[in-house]
Amino acid sequence: MLAYVLTGYGGPEAMELQDVPKPIAGPGEVLVKVFAAGLNPVDYKQREGAVRLITRPRMPLVAGSELAGIVEAVGPGVRRFATGDRVFARVDKASLGAFAEHAAVHEDLVALMPRSLSYAEAASLPLAGLTALQALRDELKVKPGMKVFISGGAGGVGTLAIQLAKHFGAEVTTTASPRGEALVRSLGADAVVDYTKDDIATVLSGFDAALDLVGGETLEQTFKILKPGSTVVSIAGMPEPQTALKDLGAPAWLTVLFWAASFGLRGRAREEKVKYRYLFMHPSGEDLTALARLVTEGRLKPVLDSTYPLEKIADAFAALEQGRAKGKIVVTMD
Ligand code: NDP
Repeated sequence: MLAYVLTGYGGPEAMELQDVPKPIAGPGEVLVKVFAAGLNPVDYKQREGAVRLITRPRMPLVAGSELAGIVEAVGPGVRRFATGDRVFARVDKASLGAFAEHAAVHEDLVALMPRSLSYAEAASLPLAGLTALQALRDELKVKPGMKVFISGGAGGVGTLAIQLAKHFGAEVTTTASPRGEALVRSLGADAVVDYTKDDIATVLSGFDAALDLVGGETLEQTFKILKPGSTVVSIAGMPEPQTALKDLGAPAWLTVLFWAASFGLRGRAREEKVKYRYLFMHPSGEDLTALARLVTEGRLKPVLDSTYPLEKIADAFAALEQGRAKGKIVVTMD
């Protein structure tokens, strides 16, 4: 089968289209005939080696973090899925495999995709949708009436996070350039700051919670706009020791490394009397089912920037790496 293979660490040349053997469904796994797969920044960060300590991939391996398709076969012990089911999944972080015509995925990571969606739309949801759900529902515990700030609202995660925060009843403020403003407003953002013009710390204040999707200086500015005692969850900053231990299962030496690397950031959060926490999303078929339900109820819709055929995946990555996508970039295999 045709697959996009990660051959080593480096630039775009470190991933290439290859003919590789079709996988078979092992115990507990379903074999999915993949019709679409979503691209995510973590895919090129993986290629660059930026997350190698966390994901520890064994190369060469088929890249790709999320997919949608049809169950073609089930392995021994599979109970929840049958041949012919239309499914989507955020695949295993270490073994990956979504950028291919077939993928074997453990059934615990799989959910039935919403009937109303195309495969391309469904493939755009798992990684960004689970991230937004786990951050807003589990970490920030967003409730009706809360004032929530989300930086970077126009991207893959932001477009879903705005909709989910609104679903949980929050008043949502986000940042976007003029290129993304109409989109984030159409998704429900109550207020939008043009980050290319305004400094959030001067124009915003009094938030109950924040989700940082940008990192760097934006994250440090975000500490200044929260009420004392509130929490900032970042997916783009630096993992702090608690996350390293709990979510990444990092060994002691790596936890110490993250402790040191996040020292300054945690200090700045303390100065502003806010709590800082990094989130590393986890694949979950159960959470994906919750997202599918929200789609079916009309509370969440995928936002596609563009689609490319698998043969043109290098072009899709070149577009993603510009960092300007509005919603998600997806490759299709049909
Ligand atoms: P995208 O590539 O989809 O984000 C691109 C969007 O961000 C564009 O619309 C761009 O619009 C906007 N943007 C760029 N710079 C800024 C800025 N300074 N302020 C506000 N908006 C900006 O990324 P994702 O949404 O998929 O991911 C966001 C980050 O989160 C990435 O670093 C990713 O690796 C990380 N991530 C981490 C996860 C975790 O588990 N820890 C999970 C998922 C993602 P424009 O140029 O018009 O402003």
